[in-house]
Amino acid sequence: MDSFTKEIKEFAIKAGADDVGIAGKECFQRIPTVRPDQLLPQAESVIVICCRRMNARVGQYQPSWNAVEHRTAAINIIMQVLLQTSGFIEDKGYESFPIGLHGVFHGAGDAAHNAIKHLDITQEGEILGRENFEKTYWENYKCLSHMHLAEEAGLGEIGWCRGLITPRFGPRISLASIVTDAFLEPDKKLEEPVCKKEECGKCVEYCRSGALTPDYGYNATKCMMQMGEIPPAEVINRKDEKELRRYFIAQTASVGGVRIPTLDTATSRTVGSGGCGMCIVACPTGQRRQVKPLATQGKLSIGTNLM
Ligand code: SF4
Ligand code: SF4
Repeated sequence: MDSFTKEIKEFAIKAGADDVGIAGKECFQRIPTVRPDQLLPQAESVIVICCRRMNARVGQYQPSWNAVEHRTAAINIIMQVLLQTSGFIEDKGYESFPIGLHGVFHGAGDAAHNAIKHLDITQEGEILGRENFEKTYWENYKCLSHMHLAEEAGLGEIGWCRGLITPRFGPRISLASIVTDAFLEPDKKLEEPVCKKEECGKCVEYCRSGALTPDYGYNATKCMMQMGEIPPAEVINRKDEKELRRYFIAQTASVGGVRIPTLDTATSRTVGSGGCGMCIVACPTGQRRQVKPLATQGKLSIGTNLM
């Protein structure tokens, strides 16, 4: 590893990161959301920062204030690492564009407000107008997929639960990235699989909504509805724009980014959707003794979900 790459990694680890990987320019074309060179045309590298997020036993009892407090603390830690490392790069004379953990750098509020007008829902719960909803949403919503960059940077693998699975912490992590014009030595993708797929399948087994299916399917709408991430049918059907806006503003405020259904692919999970998190608690990777989701876990609880 060249000395500058080593220096940056050591700085980030000292600042509080648990792992750091470098994605080189050659992988940018493979990133399915906004590409790093669209953010910074002279970009040479992306530094991907990984911090452990939530202890599975804390996650086991969510929604709870304990989980909210841990989530908030985890966000603060990775944001501090991001800011400090970005400043370090600038002090060395390079450009840097730090992107926080939700990956969204433009238009989250407008995207939700414009896109929601296309949505409708039948009494049976079938969502109508998704195509136009998603199109409008993506036209306004600009984000970088940390997970795809992290996979390229050898930090883990996007697993069945559609989260990045890391060998040390499983999917219980936070990610953030710095796009820079500094040429850094890229890391290689992991050669050994991290997700056990058919041998394991715990994420599918414990999925509360049926969003995850054994054929590697992921339905973002089902996932979002599990935690009330999109308005209930009666709210959508009232078509009261003020009410819908209020709903989405509350959701936006709750997580620092918009979490609404996007695409039924790995991309949707990696760039902005959330859900109840049972799949993340259930994933045995990175756990000494497997913590199993509880029967009551992952149910909507207004007080804690809106934090
Ligand atoms: S967050 Fe919950 S609903 Fe969404 S995929 Fe995971 S277990 Fe299923
Ligand atoms: S629970 Fe098992 S199958 Fe699902 S992501 Fe984790 S390792 Fe992969």
